[in-house]
Amino acid sequence: MDKMHRRVWGLTVASVLLSVAGVARAEFPEKPVTLVVPFTAGGPSDKIARDLGEALRKQLNQPVIIENVGGAGGTLGTARVATAAADGYTLLVHHIGFATAPTLYRKLPYKGIDEFAYLGLINEAPSTLIGRTTLTAKTFADLRKWIATDPTKVNLAHAGVGSASHLCGLMIQSSLKAELNTIPYKGTGPAMSDLMGGTVDLMCEQATNAVPQIEGGKVRAYAVTSKERMKLPLMASLPTLAESGLADFSVTVWHGLYAPKNTPAPVLTKLNAALRSALKDPELNKRQEALGISVVSDARVEPAAHKKFVEAEVARWAKVIQAAGAYAD
Ligand code: ASP
Repeated sequence: MDKMHRRVWGLTVASVLLSVAGVARAEFPEKPVTLVVPFTAGGPSDKIARDLGEALRKQLNQPVIIENVGGAGGTLGTARVATAAADGYTLLVHHIGFATAPTLYRKLPYKGIDEFAYLGLINEAPSTLIGRTTLTAKTFADLRKWIATDPTKVNLAHAGVGSASHLCGLMIQSSLKAELNTIPYKGTGPAMSDLMGGTVDLMCEQATNAVPQIEGGKVRAYAVTSKERMKLPLMASLPTLAESGLADFSVTVWHGLYAPKNTPAPVLTKLNAALRSALKDPELNKRQEALGISVVSDARVEPAAHKKFVEAEVARWAKVIQAAGAYAD
């Protein structure tokens, strides 16, 4: 190497070393973090992501941006995060559909649940079966009789194949042995508007979105889909579906936080710590509790426990989905 070349080479090496040192020194996060919600705005996943985003912002000292990527029951938003840079700046807030999509979809736009790093569970929300207020059926028993007269005339809204409302609707149909006319949306936000407007008849909806509308008399509540009744004073008299004659019926909707698989370990550790602290934020807890929802215990905000839980959910729901013969292409 001649002198000139050696100097240029030396400078290049020095500047590479400097920039590597710079990256190592830089503390994550240095810029806003995006939470991808795989459903439209105004639905339950959007609500939890926004409330969590506010609590995470305080922990990370960076703005948290919500990006709604609705469609195909949450699989499009999930794919968006699977293919995002694995740098901790693009995360996924997703629910039970994360565990049901691999069975429901014969072709997924991402490789599966191993494409992600698990950051911890967030919450568990009860769900409800609700209808338009103009239905003549007042109770679930009335509703059951009405459905039996002609199931194909009953419109059941849901947030796309793989969404929680779809899964719950699927189980109701299989319990009643009735095939309803199902109407997919990109989230239950817009589906709720149609239900309140009376253009669809029924929907399963998480407490997050359902409780304010039930309490405001904008929709009729028929039952809680979770195992236990809700404890909120105005909701405590609502029976569960299991109590109403659908033996062992139980759909509860959990949410979790994910990063792309190859995100560096120190970034994941930082995000997990931020999530743990965010879930203790009194403001977040107040908002969740007002809707009858609770954030999970510390032991579940743990990557290994989260992953194990999701794997068990995949196996549990695979049996149910296969028994119902449901799939999407
Ligand atoms: N979580 C969906 C949403 O936010 C609703 C659903 O899965 O049913 O719209």
